[in-house]
Amino acid sequence: MVDIVSNIRLLRQGIPSSVKIVAVSKTKPVEDILAAYEAGQRIFGENRVQELISKREILPGDIEWHLIGHLQTNKVKQLIPHIGMIHSADSQKLLEVIDMESGKASRTTDCLLQFHIAREETKSGLTIDEAIGILSSPAFARLKAVRICGVMGMATYSGDNELIRSEFRNLRKYFIQLKERFFPDNSSFREISMGMSGDYRIAIEEGATIIRIGSLIFGERGKD
Ligand SMILES: *Cc1c(COP(=O)(O)O)cnc(C)c1O
Repeated sequence: MVDIVSNIRLLRQGIPSSVKIVAVSKTKPVEDILAAYEAGQRIFGENRVQELISKREILPGDIEWHLIGHLQTNKVKQLIPHIGMIHSADSQKLLEVIDMESGKASRTTDCLLQFHIAREETKSGLTIDEAIGILSSPAFARLKAVRICGVMGMATYSGDNELIRSEFRNLRKYFIQLKERFFPDNSSFREISMGMSGDYRIAIEEGATIIRIGSLIFGERGKD
């Protein structure tokens, strides 16, 4: 039996209180999420829009739901009323759709820019040049209902801690570069979402403000 409550307590004890934990509950049943909720956890992460919405509808209303997986533009409209933060904003087009749907819903949506920092080709995300291109564009300047709150990235799945460390370090470098150039006086731009069950300690050493933890809280998943 996985002891979700003590997993969360242990995790919290081992990290600075300023670091936010997103409990990644993808594929896990609502009973598991409730157990974590009762241990005080309030931010949960899902990678599929439909799963996030179905869970949100039956779980306590003060849970903040984060989307951490790839988001298709045709899913944005249904997602917007339910979402606390989108970690996976990775194109100008997607930002425009999020902006449009948020505007229609009279709200502002918090987003992180997802970067490609890993060796694997399959991990999606922007390059720093693409991000600079987006943030400098007139189209970006017109967005009104999107709030860019920082950056997100996933390190290579690897046992090589120095490789992982250098990838996290790059992400923090991008964060600082963008902060100085585009958000110098904007206190909303402050989050670095990096680190999962296998590498969150390194991520925190390299400046993570948000870690995304699944299996260490809920136990191993089957195939996602
Ligand atoms: C699944 C997932 C996580 C959590 O992974 P664990 O190794 O189980 O902690 C974190 N971030 C993203 C983007 C994920 O898809």
